[in-house]
Amino acid sequence: MDCVFCNIIAGKEPAEIIYEDEKVISFLDIRPINFGHALVIPKKHYENFLAVPGDEMNAVSNITQKIAEGVNKGLGCDGFNIIANNGKAAGQTVFHFHFHIIPRYNTDRFNYRPKLKSYDIGSMKEFAEKIRIAVNK
Ligand code: AMP
Ligand code: ZN
Repeated sequence: MDCVFCNIIAGKEPAEIIYEDEKVISFLDIRPINFGHALVIPKKHYENFLAVPGDEMNAVSNITQKIAEGVNKGLGCDGFNIIANNGKAAGQTVFHFHFHIIPRYNTDRFNYRPKLKSYDIGSMKEFAEKIRIAVNK
């Protein structure tokens, strides 16, 4: 399997590494939405958010908070987005789980707000019920 992020971890691919420990590594995204856009990933290869075991997700989450604070303070941005794309339909292109930390500025004009839908009468309950059943199984 050829995974660009595994190659970065193995030192076979160059990267601007920000942080590294036993379980987690963070480096800059090579094609940033804003400069300083960072990624945080588990060192072990897991395809997406659902595949990462709890203890490693805890480590990745804690480091994501630490790096977000660094991005915020270090760059003096006005805000930041933390996102994870899961699956091709959601825009995932590298299938090694990662959080994006995207620095944001009041003036950056980056906008990914979609046209929002409205539920038909009663259908909100149906959607909630489908999810509740799956969650409680
Ligand atoms: P996603 O589309 O959520 O799967 O995000 C994958 C991200 O990885 C994209 O934003 C890419 O720009 C970034 N990326 C791909 N190859 C590299 C690389 N060699 N070094 C750093 N970031 C990369
Ligand atoms: Zn990988």
